[in-house]
Amino acid sequence: MSLWLRGATVVRSLEPPRVERADLLVADGRIAAVGRADAGEGAATLDCSGCLAIPGSVCAHTHAYSALARGMPYHLPAPTSFLEILQRIWWRLDRAIDPTAIRASALVAAREALLAGTTTLVDHHASPNAIDGSLDVIAEAFEEVGIRSVLCYEVTDRDGRARAGEGLDENRRFLRRVASGRWPLARGMVGAHASFTLSADSLAACAELARQEGVGVHVHAAEDAVDQADALARFGQRVVERLELGGALTDASLLAHAIHLDPAEAERVVRTRALVAHNPRSNLNNGVGRTPLSWLGERVALGTDGMGADLFEESHVAYLRRREEDLASSPRGSLAMLAQGAAFAGRVFGEPQLGSLDVGAPADLVVLDYQAPTPVADDALAGHWVFGLSAASVRDVLVGGEVVVRDRRITRLDGADIALEARSAAGALWQRLEGIGPHPFTPTRLLASAGVS
Ligand SMILES: [Zn+2]
Repeated sequence: MSLWLRGATVVRSLEPPRVERADLLVADGRIAAVGRADAGEGAATLDCSGCLAIPGSVCAHTHAYSALARGMPYHLPAPTSFLEILQRIWWRLDRAIDPTAIRASALVAAREALLAGTTTLVDHHASPNAIDGSLDVIAEAFEEVGIRSVLCYEVTDRDGRARAGEGLDENRRFLRRVASGRWPLARGMVGAHASFTLSADSLAACAELARQEGVGVHVHAAEDAVDQADALARFGQRVVERLELGGALTDASLLAHAIHLDPAEAERVVRTRALVAHNPRSNLNNGVGRTPLSWLGERVALGTDGMGADLFEESHVAYLRRREEDLASSPRGSLAMLAQGAAFAGRVFGEPQLGSLDVGAPADLVVLDYQAPTPVADDALAGHWVFGLSAASVRDVLVGGEVVVRDRRITRLDGADIALEARSAAGALWQRLEGIGPHPFTPTRLLASAGVS
């Protein structure tokens, strides 16, 4: 199938910003030509007059399973720390998740992502009572909606040794299955929860599996001070040092948050060319602090940590929060982080042009109905992005050359059916949740078992 997108202002790249008026030919899943549409070629056309065409956004860290947590009841005392947020909310929710909830939440997450102009989700999954096959369910649901994804299962010792092993097996099983090409839009990584819930053996096993399979480890790193305190107490190492010495810090690694770093740890990230997924809205929501962006240079992408997949909103908050502490920071910082996320996904998919709209790039793109009140040129793009663009402008979305959103509706499935299925699954999930108490795991348990008091 070939399709001319006519009349748009085209953002060829976010960093450096390159904008031009051109028609785009999409053929065989890729950008086949950029220039003037030739009426004689017989390709279908999509009128994009007055629109802005941009590369699809990549969400570098999310948890699709949290999609059914929106508005869920909560009857326990309010959490007063990051650890209590995990014990009382997320580590209860994940134990209540069954395959029906996994599928329903994945469908919701994929639909909402596409409608926000996000064409790739880098997901980090946990469902300790439904581990085996869980990544297949997500891959299948994402594929049905038509979104690109990089999936993993979070290995952790907080639910015991057996489940840590099952989590590792799920990553291995999925990596081999996805390599068969069953889900063309999906790839895998090795997931690990966070240093403070991982034994030495489990972290080593994750690093070894990633090495064997030629992929990276996707792990939360120093999201809260508790992670550093635990790593120092158990291993006499800081979190990023522990990851590097354990073989889990490579140029394919993805570290979510990376807030409580010291300069030497930031230097390890930069030197190894690992990537940090910065989640400013989640960091605000959990009160965990600020990622030291200035130490990390260009090794930062943007994620949402499960708070939807609207990278416009995330990039606005990223900009404003940075600006609050440094008036010299520019809106271009948000574009650079989005470009890094796309480069990461491009590397995982073996598609170095992903994230650009140049000839040969995979046609992952978004048509925004954006009546720009001022000229959109290279130098002005970042200003439009941070102060003007939003998910509300998303009209059409293509992933791998296929139109998966047309006039604000997903095309492969019925959005209303997805919502109906999700509400039903959410009711059952919330009911199970009522019977699950706060998670008993605390880092001190691991400290005790390691002989550290
Ligand atoms: Zn996360």
